[in-house]
Amino acid sequence: MPTKSPFPDVEIPDIDLWGLIFDRKDRDFPDDKVIYRAIDSDRKYTFADVKSCATQFGEGLRNLWDWQKDEVLALYAPNDIDIPPIVYGTLFAGGIVTPANPAYSVEELAYQLENSGAKALVTTKKFLDTALKAAKKVGLANDRVILLGAEKDETHRVKHWSSIRKTSGALRYRRRRAKSEDLAFLAYSSGTTGLPKGVMLTHRNIVADLVQIQGAVGGWYSSSEDKFLGVLPFFHIYGLTGLVHQVLHRGIEIVVMPAFEMEMFLRGIQDHKITFVYVAPPIIVRLSRDKMVDKYNLSSIKMITSGAAPLTKELVETVHKRLNIKVNQAYGLSETSPMTHTQPWNEWYASVGSVGKMFPNMSAKYMSAEGKELGPGEAGELWLSGPNIFKGYWKNEDATKESITDDGFFKTGDIGYQDEQNNFFITDRVKELIKYKGFQVPPAELEGKLMENELVDDVAVIGVNDEQQHTEVPRAYIVASQPKNGDAGKTEASAIVDWMGQKVANHKRLRGGIVFVDEIPRCEKSASGKILRRMLKERSKEDIPLG
Ligand code: AMP
Repeated sequence: MPTKSPFPDVEIPDIDLWGLIFDRKDRDFPDDKVIYRAIDSDRKYTFADVKSCATQFGEGLRNLWDWQKDEVLALYAPNDIDIPPIVYGTLFAGGIVTPANPAYSVEELAYQLENSGAKALVTTKKFLDTALKAAKKVGLANDRVILLGAEKDETHRVKHWSSIRKTSGALRYRRRRAKSEDLAFLAYSSGTTGLPKGVMLTHRNIVADLVQIQGAVGGWYSSSEDKFLGVLPFFHIYGLTGLVHQVLHRGIEIVVMPAFEMEMFLRGIQDHKITFVYVAPPIIVRLSRDKMVDKYNLSSIKMITSGAAPLTKELVETVHKRLNIKVNQAYGLSETSPMTHTQPWNEWYASVGSVGKMFPNMSAKYMSAEGKELGPGEAGELWLSGPNIFKGYWKNEDATKESITDDGFFKTGDIGYQDEQNNFFITDRVKELIKYKGFQVPPAELEGKLMENELVDDVAVIGVNDEQQHTEVPRAYIVASQPKNGDAGKTEASAIVDWMGQKVANHKRLRGGIVFVDEIPRCEKSASGKILRRMLKERSKEDIPLG
């Protein structure tokens, strides 16, 4: 029998995301409440500003490009307060937003643009060159690339989004209301296996996750008293739902950082009297040992929530002892919009080490490797169902069928168990995904790239633990085309690591090094010769990598 959430079910309104945010009757904060504030300038947007800029941008998209329903707009930018009105403007015009990591190389961005069929690309001045190259690669015209942020392009190659807003005066359009099953976002994730895929998130998925979050922990913060720090990237689903949508939904001010930088983070908390921050585990590691922390007053913090990757009990305890700061955990996936579990604030210490309790309206099952349903106390693969489970992978029915059962359970690819107090623990992963500091590193993608190198005959990439940094790092097992020993082997390994560094975003670099092998272990029974990653994981503990 599946286990149910311990929280009472919440009612999920049958409206689209814009409707939930801007048309609601029960809003308990004023129009002029500042929601987004830039940390490094005096730029800011109130709730009313976001609504009016989004309306103008949505009208501009239709005026200028005759924007059609379900057309995709790609966002390739670091955090900026212009992102929310651009996201909501696209939804106003009936579009779908696909966010991409600004660390992506030309090839990585081009892959997402091509795969999603994006009709426009929004970026910042700093990332314009890469954006233009990627756009060219997929045949997207220069005039479909636009800028956001404080800086404009003096060379006048591309327009700024504010000029698109101005064109909205020409014709007025009514907002395109979306049905709850219509797509709002395409977030890219490799899921359990293979290359990154577009995770189809509907309006209902995001609306559901927002009211589920409110049902689980909503009472813990309030519009009048609390302030968030926006350090998690808006291009990842965790930041998109938690920091772009949730703050508009709850009327909470957020101070937005362009990227993580320790001193700016600490000063931001102190100067803006931040009460709540979502982070990924590397920031908790820094809080546990960085001396710089002692120079700042962080006493305004009520809670820091960590998610996106595992966090140890020891780290939570060290930070609490050192700084008297409470850290709880949340869990979720791109495919679950994302949040499914969190530790209730008043129980954070009692359940330290767990990812907390399952959100309202959700059920879970634990499955053995043989496909048998296990009891709640037994560790197995976690399967989840609920209104926040994605619709499927974009244009990939096979992967969709593989990951969602006929009765609506999504196979997370994570291993865990549940204790008698309904606390969930995540202990391992059955899927091949590697997470470097919370960022996805899909092994199949790195293997594909490495096979393009003439020094490589065959390859498998796995994640190995870097204890010092509390994260996994990708390591390649390579069958060399011209095997070399000793120093020559070392030089070859470094050459491959450097070559990869040029091809992929920083978080996908081969930080776990290279091990040369005679053969990659593969399953003879599977037609594709599936890599036996478990065997490599086992031996990785003893291996000494090169590179
Ligand atoms: P993403 O789709 O990028 O959000 O990645 C989702 C994956 O991140 C999950 O399937 C887990 O493997 C991992 N993850 C997220 N949150 C946690 C957590 N609190 N503890 C352990 N792993 C996590």
